[in-house]
Amino acid sequence: MTGPASDRGPAEARPVLLRNARLTGVHAPGDADRVDVLLRDGLVAAIEPATAGVGTGPAVEGADLGGSAVEVVDLDGRWLGPGLWDSHVHMDQWALVRRRLDVSSARSAAEAASLVGERLRSRPLAPGQPLIGYGFQDALWADEPTRALLDAVSGDVPVVLVSKDLHSVWLDSRALAAHGHGDHPTGLLREAEAFAVSTAVSAVSEQQLDEWVGEAAQAAAARGVVGIVDLEMTFSVDRWARRVAAGTTSLRVRAGVYPHDLDEAIARGLRTGDVVPGTGGLVTVGPAKVITDGSLGTRTAWCHDPYVGAEGDPGAHGVATYDREALVAHLRRASSAGLVPAVHAIGDAANASALDALEEVGCGGSIEHAQLLDPADLARFARLGIVASVQPEHAMDDRDVADRLWAGRTGRSYAWESLAAAGVRLQLGSDAPVAPLDPWVAIAAAVWRARDGRDPWHPEQRIAARTALAASTGGRSRVDVGSVADLVVTEADPLTATDAELRGLVVSATLLGGRFTHRAL
Ligand SMILES: [Zn+2]
Repeated sequence: MTGPASDRGPAEARPVLLRNARLTGVHAPGDADRVDVLLRDGLVAAIEPATAGVGTGPAVEGADLGGSAVEVVDLDGRWLGPGLWDSHVHMDQWALVRRRLDVSSARSAAEAASLVGERLRSRPLAPGQPLIGYGFQDALWADEPTRALLDAVSGDVPVVLVSKDLHSVWLDSRALAAHGHGDHPTGLLREAEAFAVSTAVSAVSEQQLDEWVGEAAQAAAARGVVGIVDLEMTFSVDRWARRVAAGTTSLRVRAGVYPHDLDEAIARGLRTGDVVPGTGGLVTVGPAKVITDGSLGTRTAWCHDPYVGAEGDPGAHGVATYDREALVAHLRRASSAGLVPAVHAIGDAANASALDALEEVGCGGSIEHAQLLDPADLARFARLGIVASVQPEHAMDDRDVADRLWAGRTGRSYAWESLAAAGVRLQLGSDAPVAPLDPWVAIAAAVWRARDGRDPWHPEQRIAARTALAASTGGRSRVDVGSVADLVVTEADPLTATDAELRGLVVSATLLGGRFTHRAL
């Protein structure tokens, strides 16, 4: 950790006056709705009607507009709203994935293999370099992914493809040999074996990764993001302190803690919400993440009912990774040390079990994903004050898989409106790299539940734009005087935008604590 001098963090921004803004969430048609907004000391210091002319309102009067003390930026009627948070990110993975071959469009194993072949022909790799691809969804394929299919196109290059949900990897023979699975029959590895391979191929130098994370953070800021909850699986508090010291200052970061690092976190006295020294307040200790089941696509999410087509199989209900006693013990230990739990639970049985354990410990926290719920558990979320931390774009990716594997149950899957109506606090995220780190995509999926011109999927579970926005900003659906100057300027009003408009929303500027982190004005 660095000394107290650097605790002040990035240099204080000078005051900024944003002229002619329209406030997201405040506008009523026909109003004289343009305002001037003064940002000072990291806060929204004043909001005044722009009609009176700049500098004539009482609060901005003393701001020395004629001198250089205040930077004046004319927004020309653009929309000003609270800056966005992505509440579930795996940032190192996302930084790596942004540089890899995307095979998510493949509708068959053969198609994925041909994308690999095309890439190797069009952009050959340096000798010995593996090709890493990501995003395949073999649950939807009619043909089998095999090592032979990849061998036919990979030549000398080891090929590793990581599935969209990260629970499977598909390797050619060279890569299988390199990772100690030379005699594997198919080349398709699941769960622990898959995690081991994807971890190994993600092992780039710290310096390289920091550089790529810095680029990814800047790209996020360019989409209006001011903060992320980083649920990267290796302890990231110290990495983020190092990155901020090296100049990656475009995001606030809450850095999560996994069970394998809980001892260290407790020994260091880290509590959720603590500011990490030397980061100027940008990095804080995040929640204590714990994973209690698998995923839908791999049929490992733990469900009350068997997966359709798997009835009678040993794993027909998915996988519980903790028994009740162990989960309670873990949550109790984390929460009594001041670490707020974030419990990964996807199937309805996993969610019920997580709620049981959270209720027994009485600690609050969030459930991550909450994809399939017993309707009886909706009120429990609300009563216990458990946040439903959901990733709406997953529903757009997985609707066909859900229709098949959870047939007859999808009315209570990705049930965001049911949660909202029950009074449950929602927060939205991407689970990047599973979906892109772009909160407008998450908001679009939450509000419209449609993509690619398809009909909305279970439109009764759409949530209001204002609800989706508040779930992406830590509860702020508008800019108020006295609030933190974490802001986004957009070309259109996100509260009235269509699905396509939201996904393509042009972000003109992003400010963090009153300092521009992105500026295209
Ligand atoms: Zn995740």
